[in-house]
Amino acid sequence: MTEAAPYQVLLYYIYCDIECPETYRDEHRELCESLELYGRIIVGKEGINGTVSGTVENCAKYMQVMKNDPLTADVEYKIDPEQGHVFPKLSIKARDEIVSLGLGDEDFSPTETTGEYLEPKEWLEAMKDPNAVILDTRNDYEWELGHFKNAILPPVDSFRDLPQWIEDNREKFEGKRILAYCTGGIRCEKFTGHLVRRGFDNVSQLHGGIVSYGKDPEVQGEDYDGQCYVFDERIGVPVNSKNPSVIAHCVHCSEPCERYINCANKHECNDQHFSCESCEEKNQGCCSAECIEIIASQKLETI
Ligand SMILES: [Zn+2]
Ligand SMILES: [Zn+2]
Repeated sequence: MTEAAPYQVLLYYIYCDIECPETYRDEHRELCESLELYGRIIVGKEGINGTVSGTVENCAKYMQVMKNDPLTADVEYKIDPEQGHVFPKLSIKARDEIVSLGLGDEDFSPTETTGEYLEPKEWLEAMKDPNAVILDTRNDYEWELGHFKNAILPPVDSFRDLPQWIEDNREKFEGKRILAYCTGGIRCEKFTGHLVRRGFDNVSQLHGGIVSYGKDPEVQGEDYDGQCYVFDERIGVPVNSKNPSVIAHCVHCSEPCERYINCANKHECNDQHFSCESCEEKNQGCCSAECIEIIASQKLETI
């Protein structure tokens, strides 16, 4: 028998009305500090969005406190067992938006307008609909590590650029059944609402995102290729235990590889790229010949 993991990672969000995000943030920081939780939490007037790591016991206490507060009683958690913290520290911020879509005057609440929710089993069925288009609403560096088979993968590196990309590519979506997905579901709550408001009338979202889809005992992540990118030290987590595959490749030797590292040319590049261990060594941790040269010239300067 394997030893039980002593830590957990909680991924969660809820859209709800938080009157004063700054006050909420300060009180929430005290709570998290008292429970020695690490992670990243964003609080806004529209709700709360977080990923935290902590001991199993403290995570349970945290979820209980959240449950006792009517504002956050309905939060659904995606829980991963871990051997330790997956964040170096705790960060809690108050922001205008809990996901940065940057709609400005066009902003709205997904509690009023959002796409139809599909549970994992329904999603798997819907993907087989010949009139369906599967839309990945994440950034390019996320879907490069993994995505649903046949998904449309917008080449954007910020969520804020997605609305314009959709407008520029309307013909791909018009008259289609749009199936949108993201990591844990929060971005799609907003984005499918945005699509509805932009005149698309058949819009659905994967409830709980890729993470819940991977945890569903029946679908087991079926037809998701590669891993799911996450915003903590793990970088990628497995999704598919039914028909898994590796889609990412080492930028140097092109072999299948899911090792994401940051370019050793820290100040000018720092680009996150896939590299196998032996290529990392050969290329001194750099992403390209150009970066190797820069690093070499910097070394010369210090001699
Ligand atoms: Zn390689
Ligand atoms: Zn580089």
